Amino acid sequence: MTDLLLKGGEVLDPSQNLRGTFDIAVQDGSISQVAPNIRPGPETRVVDVSGKLVVPGLIDLHTHVYDGVNQTGVKPDLAGVFSGVTTLVDAGSAGCYTFGGFPRFIVPESKTRIFCMLHISRAGLNFQPDLSRREDIDLEETVNVIQANRGLIQGVKIRAVGPGVPRMGIEMVELAKQAANDGGVRLMVHIGDRFVEEGGPTITQQLLPLLEQGDIITHLFSGNSGNIMGDDGNVLPELLEAQERGVFLDTAHGRQNFSFDVARRALDGGVVPRSISTDLTIPGRLHTVHSMTEMLSRFLALGFSLEDVIRMSTINPASALDMADSLGSLAVGREADISVLEEATGDWVFQDTEGETLRGDKALTPVVTIKSGEVFAADWGPRPWGWLPDTAE
Ligand SMILES: [Zn+2]
Repeated sequence: MTDLLLKGGEVLDPSQNLRGTFDIAVQDGSISQVAPNIRPGPETRVVDVSGKLVVPGLIDLHTHVYDGVNQTGVKPDLAGVFSGVTTLVDAGSAGCYTFGGFPRFIVPESKTRIFCMLHISRAGLNFQPDLSRREDIDLEETVNVIQANRGLIQGVKIRAVGPGVPRMGIEMVELAKQAANDGGVRLMVHIGDRFVEEGGPTITQQLLPLLEQGDIITHLFSGNSGNIMGDDGNVLPELLEAQERGVFLDTAHGRQNFSFDVARRALDGGVVPRSISTDLTIPGRLHTVHSMTEMLSRFLALGFSLEDVIRMSTINPASALDMADSLGSLAVGREADISVLEEATGDWVFQDTEGETLRGDKALTPVVTIKSGEVFAADWGPRPWGWLPDTAE
């Protein structure tokens, strides 16, 4: 018995090299068939998605959704199923002293699938600066909380920026790496800030060699000093070596961490970003970031293909979580996580966090999201007029 039938969409699933006009049948929350002209049963809910793009449920690897605890935390479903996203990762909103509310109040209230990176600072992002001295880190309790929330916590997060850098230097990253190792999870590092000392190697240059295969760099194209570009104008050799080792490169835009100029020079220099993510917050949703689909549209404007941007928001982030066998694909038998998007042609303008603008002629917007077989219409969107980006004058 087919419960739900998505009829006539343009299916694009990079995990299976699948592209074409297919119907998708869902039964008991899982994908039961992907084929042309599937016949509905008498009880089947049929959704006409002809003319729409049908892709695996989008995965946003970097968000902030500790709603009600962090001032800037977005409601998970606003960043999630109402925005075309079926799985999101909270990138370190909570530390070991503040994490308890996540499994108790956030996860049970959300339709969107949630994973977390645990901030190495004990209070997470509840105070700024989040990490300024050694006492802000409780290594033992961090590992305890990871062990008590196995599955929900997928990594340790550190922001290798701010006043902790001159005070603690590389030790802060070493402690975060130790917590990740002791907890048996990966490390996610926010890069792109300041020098440890005048003329010396940046904290980024010092931390990159500590990262192993599966660890994650986020804010790859940050325009801030101490980013992945060296003083000679070339990509840091340490970054290219990390990429070679299998360190996962995430691009999280955020309100302060994306430069079109750095992106272009890094791409020319051989950097291959693996995922597109938002770093969504309440102010970021209203200004600068807006939405996951707008991030995909930015990468189209940067010259990535439609297949690239869907791969970088589905199967690639799934593999960053070691979940490529369960998420990020429309393969038969998978949980039915599906995003239905619309592609609009226009003269769109995107602004990076350095004030530079970039024109593009394609924009993706969410229409309908299916999470574990349940159907959610996209909400109004982050802008007064909805989901579409700014237009050129
Ligand atoms: Zn963030």
